[in-house]
Amino acid sequence: MNYETHNYDILIVGAGGAGLRAAIEATNDKSVKVAVVCKSLLGKAHTVMAEGGMAASLDNMEGEDNWEVHFRDTMKGGKFLSNWEMVEIHAKESAERVRELEEFGAVFDRTEDGDIHQRPFGGHTFARLAHVADRTGLEMIRTLQDKAVHQGIDVFMEYRITKLFKDGDRISGALCYNRNDGKFTLFQAKAIILATGGCGKCFAVQTNSWEGTGDGHALAYEVGAELMDMEFMQFHPTGMVWPLSVKGVLVTEGVRGEGGILKNSRGERFMFNYIPDSFKNDVADNEEEANAWVKGDRQKNRKPPELLTRDVVAKAILEEVKADRGSKHGGAYLDIASEQSPDYIKKRLPSMYHQFMRLADVDITKDPMEVGPTAHYIMGGIKVNPQTTESKIKGLFASGEVAAGLHGANRLGGNSLTDLLVFGKRSGEYALKYAKNCEKTPSVSKEEVDRAIEELLKPLGKEEGENPFTVQSELKETMGKYCGIIREEKEIEKGIKIIEELMKKEVAVPDHRDLNTAWHAYVSLKSLLTVSLALAKSALARKESRGAHTRSDYPGYDEALGKVNIILNKSGEDMKVSKNPLPQLPENLQKIIDKYEQ
Ligand SMILES: Cc1cc2nc3c(=O)[nH]c(=O)nc-3n(C[C@H](O)[C@H](O)[C@H](O)COP(=O)(O)OP(=O)(O)OC[C@H]3O[C@@H](n4cnc5c(N)ncnc54)[C@H](O)[C@@H]3O)c2cc1C
Repeated sequence: MNYETHNYDILIVGAGGAGLRAAIEATNDKSVKVAVVCKSLLGKAHTVMAEGGMAASLDNMEGEDNWEVHFRDTMKGGKFLSNWEMVEIHAKESAERVRELEEFGAVFDRTEDGDIHQRPFGGHTFARLAHVADRTGLEMIRTLQDKAVHQGIDVFMEYRITKLFKDGDRISGALCYNRNDGKFTLFQAKAIILATGGCGKCFAVQTNSWEGTGDGHALAYEVGAELMDMEFMQFHPTGMVWPLSVKGVLVTEGVRGEGGILKNSRGERFMFNYIPDSFKNDVADNEEEANAWVKGDRQKNRKPPELLTRDVVAKAILEEVKADRGSKHGGAYLDIASEQSPDYIKKRLPSMYHQFMRLADVDITKDPMEVGPTAHYIMGGIKVNPQTTESKIKGLFASGEVAAGLHGANRLGGNSLTDLLVFGKRSGEYALKYAKNCEKTPSVSKEEVDRAIEELLKPLGKEEGENPFTVQSELKETMGKYCGIIREEKEIEKGIKIIEELMKKEVAVPDHRDLNTAWHAYVSLKSLLTVSLALAKSALARKESRGAHTRSDYPGYDEALGKVNIILNKSGEDMKVSKNPLPQLPENLQKIIDKYEQ
């Protein structure tokens, strides 16, 4: 088999926020060789699409924000299933990381006093999201990319990693192919950081870019790392529902943060009917108080119910549609036009204005948007050490959306972008330490590489076999039907059976390697099937409803399940499911939660 070989100390897979932040940290030491590999172009990673902002207790707005309140909000939003240590680190370090991003060159929106402006988002007690209008991800990527390139990283664009290798119990390398010419490259490395993002592409109605196929989850699983919390796929309450060609495209929570309200077909502001008891202290139960908060009177008043956590709002919209009170195309109406002036909307939400104007012919400064739930973000992922981000496999690190632990059963909006900064930095730092302690580069077995290439080439030019795009469509339909927002035992079982059948299907693609999109679809399919099975099996095991995971047959919390994470391991050819007790929350942190609950 023909392939090129490169040797690096640290290989970073992914050039989104997490990968780039890791690269900046790792290249602080000029004696190590660092490469970044991404399957799209530099600057095109999914992070670029982030809109609303990044959450950090900078305390630039009203209220008295600090890491403790951020800690409490994240734990509560995640239904207390998060890894407390990760939540504490994130709450304590995110403000510093945001200020540092500004030092790297990010130009945030400002308050009248010249501080970084922060906008309110669901589940955050205070206005906490530092942002650049509704194009925050673009500024983040631009800044990190400039910095990383100037630090001297080697970048391999449009290279897709398809397999990881170990030498004994250590990570040792990765195989990839170039998406343009199909040629193979082997990277030998002492440490590898996976920063490959999410897996929204398991669903048909979803918000992710084409990259979100769960490659990192599948790569890590195949090489023996553990996956955790995979049942928790966040369905964002507000995706576009019309026109059909753009169904699922995200409508940022920033619209509600800026005062947008949700109404049903009767014009009723229905979120007042869906306030859970646990949020009664945080959320206004009448229009007068909610409106006063939007107008800026935030010390005395509770925030609008539209800013409840995403799991609550998504289910409320579904309920309205089920009760025949949905919008014309099966969602709800999101109205900012009657709350804010056209100038304000265009200044704070320019991308939303253009998105609706161009894609749906709707002027959001005059008319309401139609919105409904869409698969958005996977809280689950690779189980990592909370301090170092190292997985169970020595030398294999993970951060960003591909890693699990911070968000528990439900992520608060804005916490992902600071997750990338905080834990991306830590991945870079600890991978650097690890690589420097590693005397020689571990080796990769040539036979294993040959076998991996053979496996990749298998569908090329086959006479008979399924079209990988068709199998992908069947998978997405299955996931939406059996593992969507509301789940039930028999349905999930059906879903698992279909996924297992799809896994057995032989696929055929045209016999060439240059720009072969069907071949790329085959590679994506393998990752999508693995993460879909992981999601379905975890959903079956969690016999309760918590956060983003709702079981119609187990509608309430189960106390025992609230104390465990669901873990998935590769055992031979089987996906083994087990339960792992959550680490005990220390008394000082429990006191913080109790303090802000009163
Ligand atoms: C529309 C939208 C808006 C959002 N807005 C916000 C927001 O306002 N605030 C917030 O906190 N969160 C937001 N999120 C979530 C957030 O954007 C993501 O969780 C985050 O950007 C993920 O970053 P990442 O660095 O983990 O991965 P990504 O940015 O997804 O990057 C993944 C990288 O890995 C590479 N890659 C993947 N697989 C391979 C492979 N096999 N080989 C080589 N390279 C590979 C990709 O090419 C890419 O470079 C939003 C999400 C969406 C969908």
